[in-house]
Amino acid sequence: MSTSVLVIIPAGSKATKGLPSGRASGRKKKKHCHKKGYHNWSLQKADLCSGMKAFKWCDYDDDEKTERPPTCLPDGPPVEAQCDLLVGCDGAFSSVRRQLMRYATMDFSQTFIKHNYIELNIPPTTSGEFAMEPNFLHIWPRNTFMMIALPNTDHSFTCTLFMPATEFEKITTDEQVLDFFQKFFPDSIPLIGIDALKKQFFLIPAQALMMIKCSQYHASETMVLMGDAAHAMVPFFGQGMNAGFEDCLVFDELMDRFHNNFARVLPEYSILRVPDGQVITDLAMYNYMEMRAHINSPWFHFRRFVDNTLHRIMPNTFIPLYTMHKPSLSIPQAHSSLSFYPTHL
Ligand SMILES: Cc1cc2nc3c(=O)[nH]c(=O)nc-3n(C[C@H](O)[C@H](O)[C@H](O)COP(=O)(O)OP(=O)(O)OC[C@H]3O[C@@H](n4cnc5c(N)ncnc54)[C@H](O)[C@@H]3O)c2cc1C
Repeated sequence: MSTSVLVIIPAGSKATKGLPSGRASGRKKKKHCHKKGYHNWSLQKADLCSGMKAFKWCDYDDDEKTERPPTCLPDGPPVEAQCDLLVGCDGAFSSVRRQLMRYATMDFSQTFIKHNYIELNIPPTTSGEFAMEPNFLHIWPRNTFMMIALPNTDHSFTCTLFMPATEFEKITTDEQVLDFFQKFFPDSIPLIGIDALKKQFFLIPAQALMMIKCSQYHASETMVLMGDAAHAMVPFFGQGMNAGFEDCLVFDELMDRFHNNFARVLPEYSILRVPDGQVITDLAMYNYMEMRAHINSPWFHFRRFVDNTLHRIMPNTFIPLYTMHKPSLSIPQAHSSLSFYPTHL
């Protein structure tokens, strides 16, 4: 028996071959899987009963920097396609999830935080070095808002300014940008550069941040969600991408365990991944609070001291969140520590 999997190539991606398939070569030996890639085709409708999926071609902008939303051609007829499994890894505003919710009896929540974000760039020095110490997380906490800087492999830094949308709206001119930075982040101005700062601040509108929770990641045996489509989170725990990768890993293991039987794989995938998706979104939201405000508070530093002391005494029993905060984090590990941290925000 052969299976068809439909992969919608994300906007901006030039990859029309080498479609993601986990351990594809191994899989091919066990079962034929016909994959078909559609570049820039946006899902409009999915019919679970007939298996028919309807797509429209979208004019995505090649220049990712403008982040122009896709414009679907209004008059073009939808293209219909059949497949056995539709994998929705189409991000926080997932179209696949919207279709899936017509069939799955699932709870869904979408929570925006009041902070938006913009990204700025600190280039390397003229000699090509990092302009700041690279082995630290640079944070400028300012209680109701904050800026962070993370190093890139080209020796630049990406600065992300998180601030309430209402505050972003107040800054509309170059002069106001400079005044704001002179008041709150004066040391960053020479690093970014005055002209670059004024240009980058208005390059794209400040982006919203949100948390998505679903009580189920599949419908029937034909649709499944992965990554942000299933569990978008605020970015303050640095685990969104990792959680998506872990989805793929778990799905791949289940395909092996249940011999590629979607009817068994998909429900089991939801059982395993939903609790993990929920806990990691909560932890990310907790870190949002902590990084923004607590870092300036003596109580925060005292609790960090207690955390570290307990970890030294009981290294396998008590693991502080920051110690877990690394790419090798297994999300279930986080469950055991969640009770130590307030996540009712
Ligand atoms: C400021 C910020 C900082 C972050 N930092 C980190 C970090 O340090 N570590 C970490 O692990 N994670 C981080 N994340 C989170 C990480 O970026 C996301 O979790 C990750 O990108 C999710 O990947 P995804 O493939 O599920 O979704 P996305 O990256 O959103 O990709 C979805 C793709 O689907 C396409 N698409 C959408 N709709 C359709 C459609 N109808 N048809 C066809 N294509 C469609 C989109 O164009 C897009 O290319 C951060 C996020 C933000 C906002």
